[in-house]
Amino acid sequence: MALVNLKQLVTDASRRGYAVGSFNVVNMETLQAILQAAEENRSPVILSVAEAHFPFIDLEEFSPIILRAARKATVPVAVHLDHGQSFSAIIKVLRNGFTSVMFDGSTLPLEENIFKTREISRIAHAVNVSVEAELGHVTGGEGDASPGVADPSLFTDPQEARLFVTETGIDALAVAIGSVHGIYRGTPQLDIPRLAKTRKLTGVPLVLHGGSGLSDDDFREAIANGIAKVNVYTDMSQAAMAKIRTVDTLPETLGFPEFMVQVREAIKEAVTEKMRVFGSVGRSN
Ligand SMILES: [Zn+2]
Repeated sequence: MALVNLKQLVTDASRRGYAVGSFNVVNMETLQAILQAAEENRSPVILSVAEAHFPFIDLEEFSPIILRAARKATVPVAVHLDHGQSFSAIIKVLRNGFTSVMFDGSTLPLEENIFKTREISRIAHAVNVSVEAELGHVTGGEGDASPGVADPSLFTDPQEARLFVTETGIDALAVAIGSVHGIYRGTPQLDIPRLAKTRKLTGVPLVLHGGSGLSDDDFREAIANGIAKVNVYTDMSQAAMAKIRTVDTLPETLGFPEFMVQVREAIKEAVTEKMRVFGSVGRSN
């Protein structure tokens, strides 16, 4: 059990028709909340650290903690770099023992995205680390506070995706089909036919970014049409913030660590809810 790579998780999810949640670790509370939710629900899980969150987590200091927790877990866990944009971030997490990386070249011209992703695939696969890459572009920043709307001109082109996957040898492809990072403006519309076609032409498990704010039906339809990994961050962050805003209503004698346990519980609930919708509950055996 315990520490596995992303390919193992998404292959099983694809085969059995569910999706694995990828939840961002930004501190000790999020790490504990995600793992407790996974173990209590017998769900495989992806612990992901975004390059954009490196300022909150000292990678050298925190990686051994994350990896130790993953190895100890009684469910399969992948430790993943989310939105690696620099070559150095990729190499740093490889050195620190991560089992999966996302290289995000989605803002680069196609040729350059292929070239860089292929290079990273070669390096990562040599040490049994899985690779996710993105084609098309999911707008909005990680945990973006300003509401966003998807841009159809940046959606993934299924034919291009086939070429991209063949040329790069990646294990999972993040697609742009109508989701956005952070908070949505208006009701999101997922382009399901585009998703289904991309899955058919590429043959690899697909990844949905911007998993906060979509309806349960959106998720079910996306999973039925090729999504095997869903990234969630904003919903967790908002659950934590909602709990923190209640601090004035709590007894003054409540200590800091006791309060942080309550925050952790709120995050755990948000994670559990997603695991249920993704159908990953009870899949760890
Ligand atoms: Zn993302």
